[in-house]
Amino acid sequence: MKSRKLYDRAKRILPGGVDSPVRAFEPYPFFVERGRDARITDVDGKEYVDYCLAYGPLILGHQAPPVAKAVNAQLKHGVLFGIPNELEIRLAEKITKHVPCAEMVRFVNSGTEATSSVVRLARAYTGREKILIFDGCYHGAHDHFLFGKKGAKSPGIPHVLRQDTIVASFNNQESVEKIARKNELAAIMVEPVMGNLGCIPPEDGFLKGLREICDDNGAMLIFDEVITGFRLGLSGAQGLFKVMPDLTTLGKIIGGGFPVGAFTGRSEIMKLVAPSGKVYQAGTFCGHPVTMAAGLATLETIERKNTIQKASYFAGKVAGILERELGYNVNRVGSLFQVFFNDSEVRSADEARKSDNVKFMKFHRALMENGVFASPSQFEVWFTSSAHSAKDLDATEEAISRAAETVRK
Ligand SMILES: *Cc1c(COP(=O)(O)O)cnc(C)c1O
Repeated sequence: MKSRKLYDRAKRILPGGVDSPVRAFEPYPFFVERGRDARITDVDGKEYVDYCLAYGPLILGHQAPPVAKAVNAQLKHGVLFGIPNELEIRLAEKITKHVPCAEMVRFVNSGTEATSSVVRLARAYTGREKILIFDGCYHGAHDHFLFGKKGAKSPGIPHVLRQDTIVASFNNQESVEKIARKNELAAIMVEPVMGNLGCIPPEDGFLKGLREICDDNGAMLIFDEVITGFRLGLSGAQGLFKVMPDLTTLGKIIGGGFPVGAFTGRSEIMKLVAPSGKVYQAGTFCGHPVTMAAGLATLETIERKNTIQKASYFAGKVAGILERELGYNVNRVGSLFQVFFNDSEVRSADEARKSDNVKFMKFHRALMENGVFASPSQFEVWFTSSAHSAKDLDATEEAISRAAETVRK
């Protein structure tokens, strides 16, 4: 097996054999050779229907023709200049056209950079330091948000940061109110649909409640829509749930498969960003022309075709098959879903953590053997794209049915 050999070689030179922890799983991850539409092929020639889709960005599937065309055209013009480029304006205009809270945009290179920059902006705007986040939400790999109820999620995070990051419970407005009363909050930061501990939707009124708490306390409401932006609708989760945040972070889909992040919001706040204001933010690769071209081609396609509805309809089909074959609940919002190996419904981080990841991974392995690849953890989500076809659905149904049988044995 070429993959196994490559993994052994990788482990000698890359920590854990990978460049992002979730990619490593037992006994070894496959190494990918290529992807097209909703299918990927590994270096051993095995093909899979892909429900990981690079953890979210590829809503048009692999090698989407409009994206490939736009990228190739940009390659002929040069890849990077560090000089303003019209594509930055065009992509920003697309974002401000669709995302309700967006009036101005700053492009960065990853979701992590977007969230670390937006927190500085919220602090500068409010003149306050404390940030409220939610147990189980993920806002990137930097120091400010890697906290859970029990403290820092990683060694190496300065202790002083702990005082300024307060962790509340998702779908529990009371826990937020209590904290907001006792602390001068600069911001409440939330994934409007939790997508990094499986899929956990907000309960009715929860996001509206956060809006009211922020209004009552002078705190900024920040939606981290790195996953949900342009996936749950052109207007994202804020459009779907009709709640207007002050600021929003974006990433994944808006780069069309290239590294990207962005933060956006009301002009009055965004104008504080350098060089129009004093809040420092900068980057060699920010507004990268190839990324901008790929992102623009992606958003133009989503606007023209019923990409989002198509991906969502397909997700509904797969979710139904998972529920039927496994007998567990599937949480789904649009084209974002997860089946929880859990006898009760999952509405919170604590409930999600009670799920059986060992059993999930057994299922995952059987799925892979039968030609289906989803994110390799109970605590990630499945994604669908507009490239998933009826043939992919048939193959998926058969694979899920066989894998479910393996798990029952
Ligand atoms: C993926 C993700 C991030 C981090 O984005 P990167 O591009 O991986 O740095 C931040 N927030 C959410 C909600 C995400 O899903």
